[in-house]
Amino acid sequence: MIELSHVTKRFGATLALDDVSFAVRPGSIVSFLGPNGAGKSTALRCLVGLVQPDTGTATVAGVAYRTLRSPGLVAGVLLNADDAHPGRTGRETLRLACLTLGLPFSRADEVLAEVGLSRAESRRRVRTYSLGMRQRLGIARALLGDPSVLVLDEPANGLDPQGQRWLAGLLRQRAERGGAVLLSSHQLAEVARIADRVVMIGAGRVLANRPLADAGAAE
Ligand code: ADP
Ligand code: ADP
Repeated sequence: MIELSHVTKRFGATLALDDVSFAVRPGSIVSFLGPNGAGKSTALRCLVGLVQPDTGTATVAGVAYRTLRSPGLVAGVLLNADDAHPGRTGRETLRLACLTLGLPFSRADEVLAEVGLSRAESRRRVRTYSLGMRQRLGIARALLGDPSVLVLDEPANGLDPQGQRWLAGLLRQRAERGGAVLLSSHQLAEVARIADRVVMIGAGRVLANRPLADAGAAE
């Protein structure tokens, strides 16, 4: 449902991705793990068409993300919690996304409730939000179209332990309903509760791809 196949990407002299291949099947959660600069963001950006691989293919639901007819309804994407316009309220941010996706505004309030942003918080400008609140807003936007695929870059950033448990439960629920979830992280601890498999990347290369229990044992 999410697949990178032999993806290579250079930025000048930097080999950001070196023959990277892995897949996330329906009903499963994969944690994409590696230190800063390892290539995680580049791989996720390839998946959603923001970065063009030099060679290889990156597909969502079997095709290039950009060729999906309603990408926002197929795959929810969180790339960077700072994407949201600081001068808009959280609710406005989501309502604008509803317009883009052709969804009723009521859907914005549904996902706000789902991510635990209160009515009062959703009416404040994003510039007043903590990082954790911005993450929740970004996750809310990813969930708007009720997609079967989630691609999330460092979704646990800024979430406290309770927030991380909430996120783990939410992602588990999506996977149990047949969704495919890919999330990146620079540390194993926080994602240990979430993933079925761990794909480890270092300096642009896949170092390991195993069930979580094995990955934990290797630490
Ligand atoms: P991660 O998300 O794991 O921190 P990135 O995918 O952001 O890693 O970066 C991988 C490597 O590619 C790093 O060396 C980074 O500096 C480089 N890189 C990423 N994007 C660009 C870009 N647009 N131009 C030049 N170098 C880039
Ligand atoms: P993230 O926090 O999502 O990993 P980064 O802060 O690494 O994102 O990068 C933000 C933007 O800058 C991205 O578009 C990325 O491709 C680009 N970028 C990252 N590293 C470099 C670099 N060394 N040179 C130029 N652009 C870069």
